[in-house]
Amino acid sequence: MKKTRMTSQRSKILEYLRSVKTHPTAEMIYSALKKDLPSMTLATVYRNLNHLAKQGEINKFDVNCVSHFDGDMSFHQHCICCECGKVKDVFEKEITSNTLKKIKLHDFEPKSLNIIIYGKCKQCKTSHKE
Ligand SMILES: [Zn+2]
Ligand SMILES: [Zn+2]
Repeated sequence: MKKTRMTSQRSKILEYLRSVKTHPTAEMIYSALKKDLPSMTLATVYRNLNHLAKQGEINKFDVNCVSHFDGDMSFHQHCICCECGKVKDVFEKEITSNTLKKIKLHDFEPKSLNIIIYGKCKQCKTSHKE
């Protein structure tokens, strides 16, 4: 493990993100943690999340212009429903590793990849048929 000094708020946020599979937004994280961390503000949550994303501790991606955060840093993809915005994890490790392998740039070393597959979830599909 890398030794980085973390504020207790930041480590709580990270701990929370690693424990859920819901790809929460900053607001969702804020409301989940404010009971434990009453002095924390939404702005602090944003700041910590952006810092963690920059450090490569968490994943950040946008759905309908809202940032979602993911504590799972293993190679995986996200399926996002265009209608309800639901995010689903897909674990096709090879899609990511093959894409990374295929990218050959002499002045750039690819390390990670965010793959988002847009579509329609089952619920939205069936509710439209009726
Ligand atoms: Zn949907
Ligand atoms: Zn994910």
